[in-house]
Amino acid sequence: MTNADLDTRIRACDRCPLRSGCRSPIPGDGHFGSRILFIGEAPGKNEDIEGVPFVGRSGKLLTSILQDLGLERERDYYITNIVKCRPPDNRDPSPAEIAACSGYLVEQLELMRPDVIVTLGRFSFNFLVPNRGMTQSRGQCFRIHGVADRPLSFAPVVLACYHPAVALYDPKKRGIITEDLSKLPEIIASVQL
Ligand code: SF4
Repeated sequence: MTNADLDTRIRACDRCPLRSGCRSPIPGDGHFGSRILFIGEAPGKNEDIEGVPFVGRSGKLLTSILQDLGLERERDYYITNIVKCRPPDNRDPSPAEIAACSGYLVEQLELMRPDVIVTLGRFSFNFLVPNRGMTQSRGQCFRIHGVADRPLSFAPVVLACYHPAVALYDPKKRGIITEDLSKLPEIIASVQL
């Protein structure tokens, strides 16, 4: 199984009702062979139109912050969401929808085997690291050995980060996100290859 095979399976998926309300499932974007994986919640309107994750206003903000840190999507990281289809009216994905779709994320994790996973927002953070609050956890690292009761064959580090959407109207949150993401080079350097 290659990433291209998995992308093809995801794009053909109609396993849950979200498929009927979006243009297409969106597997992810970026360099799948890199050491950093970003995980958000679900595609939004612009992502659904373009078929690429994190290309709307919050995605552009995230891309800009990462470029300021010297990180380019095509070279340095891959980015995806827990749920691959856009929920109607950008509502939160339901537990049933997350359960239906998250197996793809686990497959992506096992294929990519990133050293560092950056969770964007509480949905992706609590999917990987349950029962912890975002406010207390942001900027911190957590070593995980499994996801949703499924063991992983490797043990990546999770860096908890706010979703960039919260920074669109709150400059303080942009500063916090930048501060947290600026730890990435040090984290990458400290993680054993
Ligand atoms: S959200 Fe996931 S499980 Fe549901 S149809 Fe889309 S790709 Fe399939």
